[in-house]
Amino acid sequence: MQKQEEVYNENGGEQPHKVGTVVVKCDGCGANMVFNPDFQKLYCPHCGSLKDLKDAGIADERSLESGFNLDCNYKEDEGAVVFRCTNCGASVVINDGKAATVCPFCGTAHVQKTDEMAGLKPNGLIPFSFGVEKAIEFSKAWAKKRLFAPRKFKKNINSENVNGIYTPCFTFDSYTVSHYEGKIGKTHTRTVGSGKNRRTETYVEWRHISGTFYDNFDDILVTAGSKFDQKKLDKITPYDTNASKKYEKKYMLGYMAYKYDAELTDCWDYAKGKMDKLIEKGILSQYVYDRVAYLNVSTTHERVTFKYVMLPVYVGNYNYNKNVYNFYVNGNTGKVWGKTPKSPLKIAIAVLLGIAVVAGIIALAAYAYLS
Ligand SMILES: [Zn+2]
Ligand SMILES: [Zn+2]
Repeated sequence: MQKQEEVYNENGGEQPHKVGTVVVKCDGCGANMVFNPDFQKLYCPHCGSLKDLKDAGIADERSLESGFNLDCNYKEDEGAVVFRCTNCGASVVINDGKAATVCPFCGTAHVQKTDEMAGLKPNGLIPFSFGVEKAIEFSKAWAKKRLFAPRKFKKNINSENVNGIYTPCFTFDSYTVSHYEGKIGKTHTRTVGSGKNRRTETYVEWRHISGTFYDNFDDILVTAGSKFDQKKLDKITPYDTNASKKYEKKYMLGYMAYKYDAELTDCWDYAKGKMDKLIEKGILSQYVYDRVAYLNVSTTHERVTFKYVMLPVYVGNYNYNKNVYNFYVNGNTGKVWGKTPKSPLKIAIAVLLGIAVVAGIIALAAYAYLS
């Protein structure tokens, strides 16, 4: 059974700080259990026994109003402890009473426990669907294809520099009504003149357009963490956020979470911007045109709902020539994206090969020309 326990945590030699954390004890040996994605069960790392997880069901959509007003079912996440990395500034949240030892983003051990609150409690979560060994395999396969990555990088992807971390995101649903008015043009050609003066010319047929455009959006995904920004998220999507489970700390046991540091209002603004672009595209797709003089759109959003979900990401970090390179693995699909260091030797060889090829072509051409 799940027990809510009061646990004393080490606090770097300072006075102990009492926090409530979620711990699930193994029935067999009493050790703390962790979530095992390969079995989708709780697992005892000490004796190997497994415990079923009751399916929590699908996460609810919440009205945006309730999010802005922070009503009663949207409160601080109790019992979570926040650690901050003094090297790179990342904040991670840990639920099961353990201490963070290494920062998942920069790999250093400069992590300190803080008195910060974990902030808003998520209402949804997508569990990891495979363990770290599989994440390392996916990363290695990805690294193998990076031509200029140093061999050392490819060889040194291991469980020390790849960490599973739940990453906070907001999803938004909205029914939109957009009134628009604009001027679009289509280019045509016609033949004018006669005899020697007969020629074709192009002209643009302009027209005014206006109307009402209806659309609805489902789970527009916006990251709520600055270190794992939108660009990075977009590189490893999709996530099936409609299948998000109700937030349950048991899925977090043994994993870290990245603390959100974006406001709901800012994320909603970003989502609106994303929808604006799609609405504009949708409006124009109704017409035949090849140029737009202007298009004014005014959109109202109705029945807006959101979810605050934790998404599974494996974060890799690699130190090379005093720089940290991060790569990210989608914890459901295994899709990888990231930056790798570039080996100066491999680049030099490629450049030399390129010069050799060009020189060879010139020599061949010269030979063909002279003979
Ligand atoms: Zn056990
Ligand atoms: Zn760090």
